[in-house]
Amino acid sequence: MMLHTVVDPATEEAVTKVESLDAAQVDAAVARAVAAGPAWRAVAPADRARLLRRFAAVVDAHVDELADLEVRGSGHTIGNARWEAGNVRDVLDYYAAAPERLFGRQIPVAGGLDVTFREPLGVVGIIVPWNFPMPIAGWGFAPALAAGNTVVLKPAELTPLTALGLAELGLEAGLPPDVFTVLPGKGSVVGERLVTHERVRKIVFTGSTAVGTEILRRAADQVKRVTLELGGKSANIVFADADVERAAADAPSGVFDNAGQDCCARSRILVQRPVYERFLELLEPAVTGLRVGSPAKPDTGMGPLISAEQRQRVSGFVESGADAAGRPVDVAFRGHAPDGAGFWYPPTVVLPRSTADPVWREEVFGPVVAVLPFDDEADAIALANDTEYGLSGSIWTRDVGRALRVARAVESGNLSVNSNSSVRYSTPFGGFKRSGLGRELGPDALEAFTEVKNVFISDE
Ligand code: NAD
Repeated sequence: MMLHTVVDPATEEAVTKVESLDAAQVDAAVARAVAAGPAWRAVAPADRARLLRRFAAVVDAHVDELADLEVRGSGHTIGNARWEAGNVRDVLDYYAAAPERLFGRQIPVAGGLDVTFREPLGVVGIIVPWNFPMPIAGWGFAPALAAGNTVVLKPAELTPLTALGLAELGLEAGLPPDVFTVLPGKGSVVGERLVTHERVRKIVFTGSTAVGTEILRRAADQVKRVTLELGGKSANIVFADADVERAAADAPSGVFDNAGQDCCARSRILVQRPVYERFLELLEPAVTGLRVGSPAKPDTGMGPLISAEQRQRVSGFVESGADAAGRPVDVAFRGHAPDGAGFWYPPTVVLPRSTADPVWREEVFGPVVAVLPFDDEADAIALANDTEYGLSGSIWTRDVGRALRVARAVESGNLSVNSNSSVRYSTPFGGFKRSGLGRELGPDALEAFTEVKNVFISDE
């Protein structure tokens, strides 16, 4: 039996060991999920709704326990971790309304009645990254279960604990066995087997663009359905007519939340030239004032990175990084980080010299933000769109017309005006370009977990 040691990123101490499953164990779990399918889809809509509501209530009763597990196993701040567990509850509650509202259509035709049904796909495989173990799991399993699918879910190898906890809470809430199974293990073993398994009808993958691209390629062999939520390099655009104080005060939360390990991180800040210096002056105290430290303390604003490897990667963009011309990266200012054990990295603001600099173009996935000035609206839009990604972004302006024009012009799935928040469980979430394929959450996710079936009944 292979075991993976889960490490507390704030202390580098072992938390526990979790079994890493092999391909044969995945096959056995998928077979059980296939067998559980017919009974699960036959559960009356109102009963399936009741079960999901009960699942939400059981999660609610365990929010603190799940949050503590995420603090220790993933280094999330306690405030974030409680929000994340609460988000799973809310997503379950939201999709609990779905079984009774999975409407088809009745379409006028000659010679009979034509109706459409939304049929479940069968077994859905969900592959989750380490940065938001709970919400990303919930965004997959809640709508998938509501639509009548059974689910096998692979958490990231580094962060399996809360997903395993959620599967237990599902059973406690009364979900039948094998309807929702969590399979911890390696991407190259468990993840790959879910992708190649014929009876897994859909893969919901959240993770890097490199792995997502490979999954899309391999899914083609079976015309397997996929939803992909991939990387990001989102722009936070601050116009001179904005409330610059608010934009600067809020910018750190838009990029340093979860220590910047957030696909929606606004890691490129674009500031209109007349307020560029002022914005940087206001940003500095907001960054240096960020409390970085033990994620278990309620007043901590930023915790550690997930691993030593991730810290090495992040520091490779700054300490040992270079601009496109080979010069050292220009650090404007940075916040604090504790010394000693733990995968700490200070929040860091850099000033790129050109848009060809790696720190401007690539997803750092850590607490590093790059700031550049721009001239006018057209310049801002061109800079924001000069990336292979298109996940989120912010626009700060007091001009409603400009807000609308820029929001329509930026090639990105989730934009916010005078705000840096992009995720709401009742609205669609997903990426343009290489940030992904398909949408999660909101009304859209249900479509992603069903096939439309058209049935014609002759009246003769
Ligand atoms: P990753 O791609 O390395 O891994 C993601 C998951 O895929 C893990 O569970 C991993 O074990 C599994 N995996 C790895 N190789 C696999 C393979 N060959 N076949 C099947 N599964 C495989 O990503 P990560 O480092 O865990 O997460 C960070 C990335 O996730 C970042 O790029 C980030 O932007 C992205 N992300 C995107 C979103 C979004 O919603 N768009 C949300 C969170 C994170």
